[in-house]
Amino acid sequence: MVSTEYERRIAARFASFDQDGNGWIDRGDFNAAAKALLAEFAVPARSARGQALYAGAEAFWQGMAGIADRDGDQRITREEFVTGAVKRLRDNPDRFAEIARPFLHAALAVADADGDGLIGADDTVRVLRVFHVPQETARQVAAALGADGEGGVGEQRIVPAFARYFTVPE
Ligand code: CA
Ligand code: CA
Repeated sequence: MVSTEYERRIAARFASFDQDGNGWIDRGDFNAAAKALLAEFAVPARSARGQALYAGAEAFWQGMAGIADRDGDQRITREEFVTGAVKRLRDNPDRFAEIARPFLHAALAVADADGDGLIGADDTVRVLRVFHVPQETARQVAAALGADGEGGVGEQRIVPAFARYFTVPE
């Protein structure tokens, strides 16, 4: 049982990464997220955008494992996530942004159908839903990012926002 608001938030972030819900985060979860995102936007895995997304997912996994997988078993448990990832990344959100950037760059390209470098509110929500973000929260995040104004939101705002979301304040 989660008891505090902080624990509830951590649980939600963990669930975003633990795509198959088996209680730990591994490479397969990152591949699953890439696959789900490609399916959501009907982009073929073998396309350039699809391959870039898988490469970004692998780099993201490697970066997260390097920070959080203390015992080196290629799995990030909930405890490793809390003590390794969340605490260390909170101290250094730029580091998280760098680890996540290739994946986010590729994800933006997948969701950006017209290729203008921006995605609108509805597409932002679709991306967040792939990461198990509840509909209402996804709507709020999209609005806070300004995705509903002036053609949408781009990488410059998405990357730091993503880092803020996952480095949960205590
Ligand atoms: Ca998992
Ligand atoms: Ca581990």
